[in-house]
Amino acid sequence: MAYVITQNCCKDASCVPVCPVDCIRPAEGGLDSASAEMLYIDPDSCIDCGACFEECPVGAIHYEEDLPSEMRRFKELNAAYFERHPLEPATLPAPASRARVEAGSLRVAIVGSGPAACYAAAELIDVDGVEVNLFERLPTPFGLIRAGVAPDHQHTKSVVDIFERAFINPRFASHFNVEVGRTINHDELLAHHHAVIYAVGAATSRRLGIDGEDLIGHHAAAEFVGWYNGHPDHAAHQFDLSAERAVIVGNGNVALDVARVLLMDRDALAATDIAQHTLDALADSAIREVVILARRGIADAAFSAGEFLALGHLDGVDVIVDAHDLPADDDHDDIETSFKLAIAREYSQRIPTPGNKRVVFRFGATPVAIRGTDRAEGLEVRGDSGTEMIETSLILRSIGYRGLPIQGLPYDEDSGTVPNESGRVVDGAPVRGTYVTGWIKRGPRGVIGTNRLCAEQTVAQLWADFDAGLLTRDVAGRESLDALLAARGAQAVGWSGWRAIDGAERDRGVQAARPRVKFVSIEEMLSAGRRG
Ligand code: NAP
Repeated sequence: MAYVITQNCCKDASCVPVCPVDCIRPAEGGLDSASAEMLYIDPDSCIDCGACFEECPVGAIHYEEDLPSEMRRFKELNAAYFERHPLEPATLPAPASRARVEAGSLRVAIVGSGPAACYAAAELIDVDGVEVNLFERLPTPFGLIRAGVAPDHQHTKSVVDIFERAFINPRFASHFNVEVGRTINHDELLAHHHAVIYAVGAATSRRLGIDGEDLIGHHAAAEFVGWYNGHPDHAAHQFDLSAERAVIVGNGNVALDVARVLLMDRDALAATDIAQHTLDALADSAIREVVILARRGIADAAFSAGEFLALGHLDGVDVIVDAHDLPADDDHDDIETSFKLAIAREYSQRIPTPGNKRVVFRFGATPVAIRGTDRAEGLEVRGDSGTEMIETSLILRSIGYRGLPIQGLPYDEDSGTVPNESGRVVDGAPVRGTYVTGWIKRGPRGVIGTNRLCAEQTVAQLWADFDAGLLTRDVAGRESLDALLAARGAQAVGWSGWRAIDGAERDRGVQAARPRVKFVSIEEMLSAGRRG
């Protein structure tokens, strides 16, 4: 018997070092976008010790015998990975041996509080003597873990538990509800810290660049995601759910998240932390079909195999794939692509259940224009057999996120990232004391745990600069920082304030038999934070 890694693997690879027989691969987790979508356990080498199961921050590892029925296929996928990639001893980097620095010699500001920021913070605060100040625009931490991960993926959200140790460290201070660039600027951060790490993600959505893009009824999927996750910036959005069909452009994992939320059974959604306004709006939704549109073929699909498989287990929803869109056989050099092809073939052979809702996958269809007079009435697409109009009044473009420029830092317009070398910001030459991690560093790719290696890489550059004496200078301390924030009228929320908000949301959840009912306005959040 063996343990099996399943769908919501976060890829932060915390399971790898605890495995006594070193049978989890790829051992480096996956900073490189071309590496595996998830990690796998070699069933022939696993000794059933359960160490990985205990360590996994998102509950993605199951004992083979306890695999829920909808996850049994992952046993096959874990084994198939090792048929293609026989287990070889891993060459893991030696763990960092640094234990402490002189008090006051390294003060670091981290901007953002999503997974990239949290992994960087956890890495730094472990070294005795290091001080970290973390700044977040919203009164609530955790970025896309709170406002991006789909509400039916509650296990994934539990990754936040591993960061609590860092947040409660006395050398760590949280400054939520403080916007860098507005309340405090880059130069002021540098005046109070030896180094600044930006982990601000990719805050906007890419554009399609086609006619009709500004018509009512067309939205960025990211807005819909923010709406259903109760992000204060998106809580007031309105989406037209009155027609039977919605179309999503792009077939990445965000597209699959959005399709599930649009079609899932209301009771199943009510068991999650989805925003109450979304739950109420979906109660009146007429949508019965979601078309997921890709300009390329199934072998180039951006969704991960695990998410594609899970879609087929959604109650009351058929997954429709046209067999004509599939290649003649399922063999592909890449094991995950072979798995996707095999699942797609199974979907193409399923007989739809009368009365079910549908997710329809379309391949080889490029959007040409959004048509309509006052509002979107359809999406014109071009494929092998010419152009065609797909009627719909709700079009969500899910074609990737894009980072925004940061005041005081260089910016690469093409990639929407800050130019950097392994996390050290460069503007021709390295910009002293300034670093990036996460999506603003490497672009909008990868799952939550990808940020662990990304942060380790950035922090390694910071240590190299520290050791070379490049960060040595006099900076003001925490009292001066607090005085500056107070003078600017900042209503900063600290960790205890967040715990009060968190507790209040969970209490509201108890009353409604839900994990939490989120506050969706800054005022409500601040008021709950003050009560704490
Ligand atoms: P993504 O994975 O990069 O997918 C973007 C999709 O948009 C692709 O299908 C791409 O097709 C398509 N596209 C791009 N430009 C287009 C255009 N002009 N016209 C038509 N289609 C276009 O992006 P994402 O879904 O936003 O996800 C971002 C990252 O978050 C990914 O790494 C994803 O895995 C991760 N994520 C993971 C989960 C999860 O694990 N459950 C959930 C959400 C997000 P082409 O390939 O043809 O360019």
